[in-house]
Amino acid sequence: MDQPHAVLVASPGLGHLIPILELGNCLSSVLNVQVTILAVTSGSSSSTETEAIRAAAARTACKITELPSMDIDNLAEPDATVFTKIRVKVRAMKSAVRDAVESMKPKPTVMIVDFFGTGLMSVADDLGLTAKYVYVPSHAWFLAVMVYLPVWDTTVEGEYVEIKEPLKIPGCKPMGRKELMEPMLDRSDQQYKECVRAGLEVPMSDGVLVNTWEELQGNTLAALREDEELSRLMKVPVYPIGPTVRTKEQVGKPNSIFEWLDKQRERSVVYVCLGSGGTLSFEQTMELAWGLELSGQRFLWILRRPASYLGSSSIDDDQVIASLPDGFLDRTCGVGLVVTQWAPQVEILSHKSIGGFLSHCGWSSVLESLTQGVPIVAWPLYAEQWMNATLLTEEIGVAVRTSELPSERVIGREEVASLVRKIVAEEDEEGQRIRAKAEEVRVSSERAWTKGGSSHSSLFEWAKGCRLVSSLENI
Ligand code: UDP
Repeated sequence: MDQPHAVLVASPGLGHLIPILELGNCLSSVLNVQVTILAVTSGSSSSTETEAIRAAAARTACKITELPSMDIDNLAEPDATVFTKIRVKVRAMKSAVRDAVESMKPKPTVMIVDFFGTGLMSVADDLGLTAKYVYVPSHAWFLAVMVYLPVWDTTVEGEYVEIKEPLKIPGCKPMGRKELMEPMLDRSDQQYKECVRAGLEVPMSDGVLVNTWEELQGNTLAALREDEELSRLMKVPVYPIGPTVRTKEQVGKPNSIFEWLDKQRERSVVYVCLGSGGTLSFEQTMELAWGLELSGQRFLWILRRPASYLGSSSIDDDQVIASLPDGFLDRTCGVGLVVTQWAPQVEILSHKSIGGFLSHCGWSSVLESLTQGVPIVAWPLYAEQWMNATLLTEEIGVAVRTSELPSERVIGREEVASLVRKIVAEEDEEGQRIRAKAEEVRVSSERAWTKGGSSHSSLFEWAKGCRLVSSLENI
């Protein structure tokens, strides 16, 4: 009999390919199923994207097939946001995706799309696949907001940014101004409409896989399943299968980052990295630098240009120095390390000398940190990162955050220094509590993935339901 075969569709952009790839790796290694990833690329023959896909293909058992996306000039406004363009692009690929899936041997039985690809699910029906699922590489609160958004769309008047009372969803923290997701900031924008549309499409799947785990977000997961109103909107089962994160790889030696980290005291270094696309203003870069210096703590700072996706283009030293205070590199020599290239983040976070992570709170970065028990200084910048910061500080208790949104105000040096000290150095109650909680979360993340653990069981339950595995015996 043919090995069961699942097809996963990844949307353009490495930020979307990476989580699908990790899911693919998980399905092929844990369930022993054949996985094909259809990677819809941006279509602009971006060499970094192709390079990254090639690198990914070399380290995975999944087959990766590239589908260059078509020109969508006539389908989206020229000034449409990236979010809108990706949704429109992926939707426009329906017949190409159908042809690609139809030609696969053996025929896949299960199709998984990400949040941008919900418009492709009818391909699974057209081709008579057993089932179609949505993968949410984010958390349960994000999923709840998505499926609830169409309700607010019809019941809330005016802009969300102007409402006085926080928006409520069962099982979730009320959503105030500082938690709104980027597409919710302007209801007249096409990306908001795309978001509402996605919220309506998700429940048309046969279920949702979400990158969280029971012990981390039990209340919200329970509400998605059991709350009368929310479960009626959700309609389909939710399978928490997280944390699904990239695993540590061997870093080619010699590597100056690890040579430096090896010399530092255990848990003494704060790692500063704002994801694949996060960037700061010149003024904020200055204040952050002063703050790191003022904190007196050791730091490893990944300073990059916004477009330096996957490290192929790093900024040159002159540009780095120009964006830092005069003499900063000399004064902090030995105490801190500033790096301009793409960083091996998972390997850095798992180094014993890392004691904290100043992060933009992209969910992959968050999970990479929490699975190593590293507490966070939350520095949310865009997308759903503001709600992630609230989740980490107010619900889970593994982070401190800036008093104002760093996307709206420059965070001053004194505040930076105090946040950094709190997370790596201070012996006050709050710092201790946060570090202890981060360790507790690390343990629970490990437990979720042991045999019989919550995410392991959830994955097998899902796989059994869609007949990718035939029994639950190996749980
Ligand atoms: N990343 C990395 N090196 C860098 C910057 C980012 O390896 O220098 C990886 C990071 O480990 C994570 C991903 O890029 O897996 C960023 O994803 P996340 O969801 O945190 O944020 P995004 O970049 O999508 O906003």
